[in-house]
Amino acid sequence: MTRADAPPPAAPPPVYHLCPGVLHIHTTYSDGTGRVPDVARAAKRAGLRWIIITDHDDLRAGAEAGWHDGVAVLAGYEITPERNHYLVCGLEELIPNTLPPAEYVRLVAEKGGLGFVAHPDERVTNEYTRPFRWDDWNLRGFTGIELWNYMSEWIERYSPRRRYVNYFLPQFVVRGPTPATLAWWDRLAVEGWRPTGVVGADVHATRVRALGRVWEVFPYEHVFRALTDYLVLDSPLEADFAGAAAQILGALRAGRVIMANRTWGEAAGTRFEAHLPDGRRFTVGDEVPAEGPVALLFQAPRKAHITLYRDGTPVARVRGERALWFTAHEPGHYRAEARRWGQLWILTNHIHVGRTR
Ligand SMILES: [Zn+2]
Ligand SMILES: [Zn+2]
Repeated sequence: MTRADAPPPAAPPPVYHLCPGVLHIHTTYSDGTGRVPDVARAAKRAGLRWIIITDHDDLRAGAEAGWHDGVAVLAGYEITPERNHYLVCGLEELIPNTLPPAEYVRLVAEKGGLGFVAHPDERVTNEYTRPFRWDDWNLRGFTGIELWNYMSEWIERYSPRRRYVNYFLPQFVVRGPTPATLAWWDRLAVEGWRPTGVVGADVHATRVRALGRVWEVFPYEHVFRALTDYLVLDSPLEADFAGAAAQILGALRAGRVIMANRTWGEAAGTRFEAHLPDGRRFTVGDEVPAEGPVALLFQAPRKAHITLYRDGTPVARVRGERALWFTAHEPGHYRAEARRWGQLWILTNHIHVGRTR
């Protein structure tokens, strides 16, 4: 572990466009309580530019896909057998949930869709839920992994004694991906699979009875203001919906995602980039053709504790800074984490630095 390098005089101006959105959303088409237009309005209020609806084995939301007052609404679905839930986007055909996971992972890829392993590491069973784990961590061929899911963390930490903390102070319940999930993701990058890491809402806006009245546990807007996927785009979202949808799915496929828990601060302005001496610039999901040392820059909109990882191992750290510069002399899969008040705030996808020739 080294301290990060001293920063050069100034970071060059940004060239990428961050585009915040949320995926893994349930509506009245399955077990959510909001209709698609309500959910889109909540997304708008939460400052999102895109959402992906994923009802359980149901694509009816597709009829309502399109722009909703500046929010691009896409429809996918969640393949929902007893376990091994799988989020599918970019496919206008339902793959049956009766198939074994290896089959639906293969079919989604073969038909050109994107597939994300949902809440892979749910563990705790309480009397209110069963764990919906991903069983086969040796399976390959998916687009990405939902590293961090608002609802499963909340459910895992639920107990009758803690329920009011859970209901009313959920920010202290949702902490971050499990170490096993992160280790799996880093290992897959090293193996060359490079799945995209995303955060998911898994929001249903469920209603519960407590303290003598009915509460909406996690209204959509509340959850939309927490776990957010910022797409890193080369140009702003196109006005044409089909073009915008292609940009959104393309970024998700390419690992062009910076994840944030906005409970701990807005993350707009976050950057994670590789700079080459000839001026070329790369960002998350990109492969950097390194012929020599590569300058890596992580920058957050506020001061934070920043850690840089290579292949899952910490290689640099700064405390209470907005930026971390690091000269990568070794190839590897680099990602950054920023924490505020000890809580995970920002988590980037990997930048893949190639072997020095
Ligand atoms: Zn699920
Ligand atoms: Zn779900």
